[in-house]
Amino acid sequence: MKIPKSNFSEWYNEVIDACDIVDIRYQVKGMPVYKPWGFKIMRLCFSQLEGMLNSTGHDQTYFPLLVPEDQFGKEAEHIKGFGGDVLWVTHGGEEKLERKLALRPTSETIMYPMFSLWVRSHADLPLRVHQTVCVYRHETKATKPLIRGREVYWNEAHTVHATEEDCEQQVCQGAHIYKQFFDMLAIPVMILKRPPHDTFPGAVYSMAFDVLMPDGKTLQAGTVHNLGSKFSKVYDITYSDVHGQMKEVFQTCYGISMRCLSSLIAVHGDDKGIVLPSTVAPIQAVVVPVFFGEGKEAILTKCKAVADILAAKGVRTRVDDRDIRPGEKYYHWESRGVPMHVEIGPRDLAAKKLVLVTRDGEKKVVEEEKAVEEVHAMLKAQDARLFEKATKHLQDNLRSAKTLKELKELMAEKGGFVKIGWCDEEKCAEKVEVEGGAAIMGTEHGKMEKGKCIACGKAGTAVWAAKAY
Ligand SMILES: [Zn+2]
Repeated sequence: MKIPKSNFSEWYNEVIDACDIVDIRYQVKGMPVYKPWGFKIMRLCFSQLEGMLNSTGHDQTYFPLLVPEDQFGKEAEHIKGFGGDVLWVTHGGEEKLERKLALRPTSETIMYPMFSLWVRSHADLPLRVHQTVCVYRHETKATKPLIRGREVYWNEAHTVHATEEDCEQQVCQGAHIYKQFFDMLAIPVMILKRPPHDTFPGAVYSMAFDVLMPDGKTLQAGTVHNLGSKFSKVYDITYSDVHGQMKEVFQTCYGISMRCLSSLIAVHGDDKGIVLPSTVAPIQAVVVPVFFGEGKEAILTKCKAVADILAAKGVRTRVDDRDIRPGEKYYHWESRGVPMHVEIGPRDLAAKKLVLVTRDGEKKVVEEEKAVEEVHAMLKAQDARLFEKATKHLQDNLRSAKTLKELKELMAEKGGFVKIGWCDEEKCAEKVEVEGGAAIMGTEHGKMEKGKCIACGKAGTAVWAAKAY
């Protein structure tokens, strides 16, 4: 890349363009076009997530895009939280619609009236569905491709339960699935229970998956919400229990957006471009013939044969037989994050050998018949190194502060997550934001430490603060 990653914001803009992720020239603000390479990566992310959800009792579904105004406005906090960002359909042709229709900013208000029809008895529970769709928000803040936009590609899961305990357990399962998902992407996350003032509108509590970006800011890349019975009361979702008594249900919802793609690019990328774990690389190994003049046909035939063998064993493979220099090919695929290239030249052909080179520079000459196992092993090892490196970076950026001045200095120095004490008061959170330069992100999942409030000195709990995107 022309711009080094140390200049993150500019580097990011260059990379998403130069590495064929998105094209931002489309004429609607906040709606980038996904280029085929970028969309392939994103679909690999989401198909893995869909698989994880399908195999844990969630059924994939599709609900409509539009929601009538009265139906949307039923849950007061929810509408308050989203109201200002909703895009509306007001006309059909020239004619003004009698009922305005909202473009879903999220799907609670679309799904839950249907859940009210579907859930009748305890035998209908738990109900667990998910869908991968776009949601729409009329963002007025500056948009950034794959980070903040008006069209958000995401997967949202919604569940309904008979008891509060089942609901609570589902929150844990949802969080567990998401942790596995980010592990698969080799992205370390902070799983934080958000403070009440930053809870999803209408939820009892929210847990967020925060990713540390290279500029020290954090990106909320996934959320899991316990909705309790707030929505079910409004949308009248009830069931008859074993004794025929009508009972209220308890609900959860969780979502992961295209921010998983920006996280991937940001966390793993380097000065050469993007870096992909093999799990979501559209091409895992690119086979490059290396010939100068003679013997071209024999080498090409060998390249294709090797690619076929690898593909048959589940390696996503491509032969790059374009008429350009091998060096240009390596550069092209490296910058797009392909985890490995396989070189075959005249000497390799004669010796029945292949040269395997990983994106991070591990090089091995291997026997042709060992190609499959070596490729799998080297990809797996590289993925592990990627995770280790990213985890170390996160660990190095977890610090703590005792005073607002100290917090401010740490934030100005390199950002990251800073542990502070907080008394639970929103006005102290505001003070932390104004004087410390960081927002309260929440308490670590499953941990409850005491901590004196950094703003007022009262007894409180230890929370992580950071500057978020
Ligand atoms: Zn306080």
